[in-house]
Amino acid sequence: TGSSRGIGKNIASKFKALGANVTNLNSSMYDLTVEEEILKLCKYLSKLRKIDILINNAGINFSEINKKINLEKYNKLMNINLKAVFLITSTVSKIMQKNKFGRIVNISSIASHRVREGRTVYSASKFGLEGFTKTLSLELAKYNILVNSIAPGFINTEMTRTMLTKNEIKKLSYQVPLKRLGKTEDITNATIFLCSNLNQFING
Ligand code: NAP
Repeated sequence: TGSSRGIGKNIASKFKALGANVTNLNSSMYDLTVEEEILKLCKYLSKLRKIDILINNAGINFSEINKKINLEKYNKLMNINLKAVFLITSTVSKIMQKNKFGRIVNISSIASHRVREGRTVYSASKFGLEGFTKTLSLELAKYNILVNSIAPGFINTEMTRTMLTKNEIKKLSYQVPLKRLGKTEDITNATIFLCSNLNQFING
């Protein structure tokens, strides 16, 4: 999901280059902030006979102090960052179970480990995603399905460029031992590894 820009675009293009048959999804096809649209996507996916790999990557973020957040904003973010992952994964893992093979990677965030002001809903969604990932990994291991998450730090994408000022990005880069933001390829490489034959044991 979310393969039109940023991390997801890079993952999709590298998987394609490696010979994978990739289904690209973006907001113009299914708006994952809307429950009915998530269910429509699940209906489409449930008709496919074989899905080997699922990358749950689409996500949104906003910065707002908690007392100012309304239910509409909360629902939108939770729908795409967590509910969509729950519903899509539930649908796709049924197909994987039949085929006795699957690799699922959820793109989480540093916000599932470290918190900052203005990110209550985003952090709640990513902490939830980690809990979902770990629990599901226990349930699906017996079907040869490995479920993992990757929690990127600050990656140079549109999301980062709209959430942070140039000055904040400069300061954050300086805090990183390598003195730079992550590149989308850094996340792609880890995703490829987790889905490749090189990974037979890392789960949850
Ligand atoms: P991005 O550049 O903003 O791209 C977001 C992707 O999600 C796009 O393909 C977008 O499709 C899709 N998307 C957005 N709203 C959607 C909607 N309503 N329905 C369906 N798809 C939608 O974001 P990114 O930085 O690559 O982030 C990707 C993932 O990494 C997210 O889960 C994010 O939380 C996580 N992450 C990012 C960073 C970072 O530093 N960038 C750090 C930690 C975690 P459209 O083009 O159609 O909008």
